[in-house]
Amino acid sequence: MNRDHAIIIGGSIGGMLVARVLSEHFKQVTLIEHDELNHQTSFRPGVPQARHLHALLTRGLLLIEELFPGFQNELVLQGTSKVRHGTDFRILYPSGWNPPIDTGMFMYPATRPLIENTMRLWLRTYTNIAWRTGERALSLIPGPKSSVTGVRVISGDLTADLIVDASGRNSRSPRWLTDLGFSPPAETIVDARWGYASRLYRRPVGMNGGWKALLSMPKPPDHFTAGIMQPVEDWQWLVTLAGVVGRHPPTDETGFLEFARNLRTPLIYEAIRNAEPLTPIHGYRRTANVRRYYERLDLWPEGFIVLGDALCAFNPVYGQGMSVCAIEAMSLRRALEQPHRQRFCQTFQRSAARIVDGPWMMATGEDLRWPETTGGERSFATRFMHRYLDRVIGRLPEDPATFRRFGRVTHMMAPAASLFHPSVLWKVAIGRPKNTQADTNPLPHAAESPVPSLGTESTPPSSSLPAAPRSARAS
Ligand SMILES: Cc1cc2nc3c(=O)[nH]c(=O)nc-3n(C[C@H](O)[C@H](O)[C@H](O)COP(=O)(O)OP(=O)(O)OC[C@H]3O[C@@H](n4cnc5c(N)ncnc54)[C@H](O)[C@@H]3O)c2cc1C
Repeated sequence: MNRDHAIIIGGSIGGMLVARVLSEHFKQVTLIEHDELNHQTSFRPGVPQARHLHALLTRGLLLIEELFPGFQNELVLQGTSKVRHGTDFRILYPSGWNPPIDTGMFMYPATRPLIENTMRLWLRTYTNIAWRTGERALSLIPGPKSSVTGVRVISGDLTADLIVDASGRNSRSPRWLTDLGFSPPAETIVDARWGYASRLYRRPVGMNGGWKALLSMPKPPDHFTAGIMQPVEDWQWLVTLAGVVGRHPPTDETGFLEFARNLRTPLIYEAIRNAEPLTPIHGYRRTANVRRYYERLDLWPEGFIVLGDALCAFNPVYGQGMSVCAIEAMSLRRALEQPHRQRFCQTFQRSAARIVDGPWMMATGEDLRWPETTGGERSFATRFMHRYLDRVIGRLPEDPATFRRFGRVTHMMAPAASLFHPSVLWKVAIGRPKNTQADTNPLPHAAESPVPSLGTESTPPSSSLPAAPRSARAS
């Protein structure tokens, strides 16, 4: 493969991470993005999910930091703050509240536009990366020996040595490949019919609840709703309510609050009922897990790869999508660093499939707990995992070591297999599942070190921000 020009279809999280990687190896990189973009783009049609909470897990955050050094710092400059998993971020598991200990995992919660804009600002400083915004990729251009050599857009044909499809859930690659005479990939859809509704609120100054962010999880098989709130930039709270198997949160004022009031903990409701709403309530329903098995195709066009949500879109409840994009981008970087290989693209496609295997198993496995979930297979292994994880989760409120380990898995810093470590296994084997904490139990606070709280941040930080000429904040 020559390394003169690479084209990426889609200029969102997956596309930008890959652009950064390809800029190290190709003379010129072009991002084709359907939406019109600038460095302060707010919500846009190409990423309708952006209104909803986008947790960037520790693994994704660290990888993005590696590609964009200073990324976390920039998020802080834009008004976000560090949220530690365990002490600042409190979780009501089916078995009760997490123990208030620092797990070492952390986030800098931000709105999705801020995450994107921050990355886009960085990319603008790379002279070999060009953007073609407001332009839609229409099809692939075939080359010799079953290869792909370009992309057709309305204004003409663009040729390249490598074309990457990072166009998200609605990717047209199955159709484009069929048009070129390739087989379409097999596809699996596992749908637990999760639905979201989200709203931004002004964070009240001086509130001290002993937490910065909260998550109330559902409790299969009886409790179908979840809620999460996080502090994001500009002294706001982003609140996302969610319901599984069609128990979707309403998008009207009264219904939204009532839904929050009926979560397993009243804390989110109590926080928002008198808070000032800053946006309307936005709903979202397209949450099915969708996986396309490109790696199984015998014949694959050289010069073409598919990644991000275009390859595998997860139920967003588990917060994996952006981190998986980052892992795939890093894998592509490693592949490009090796001496030129035969069948580069097919080999990469197979390694990308191995990357999504774990998160796919995690997301679909959890969704298959609900009898109403469609697609997928409730195999013996799935049922065994449910029973094993029930026992692990049952221990979390009272077992700091297991909670710490579970936190690492949640943040993709350790594989799910690490929950089978002997130190967990023997406790699970000899202990009885606990699940004893009542939902109404109060939030336990840290004994020695007080939980950092909103109350410690008595004034909005935005006033102390340096004037940011490069502001990535959405207007
Ligand atoms: C409700 C919801 C909440 C989520 N929450 C989280 C979370 O908490 N944490 C997390 O990590 N992930 C979350 N995700 C997943 C996350 O949004 C995706 O995994 C991530 O955006 C994937 O990035 P991507 O670049 O592959 O695709 P996308 O972000 O979907 O971007 C695709 C881009 O391609 C462009 N495009 C599409 N077709 C064309 C074309 N033909 N030509 C040119 N441009 C095109 C679009 O305009 C868009 O910019 C959530 C998803 C949803 C639905």
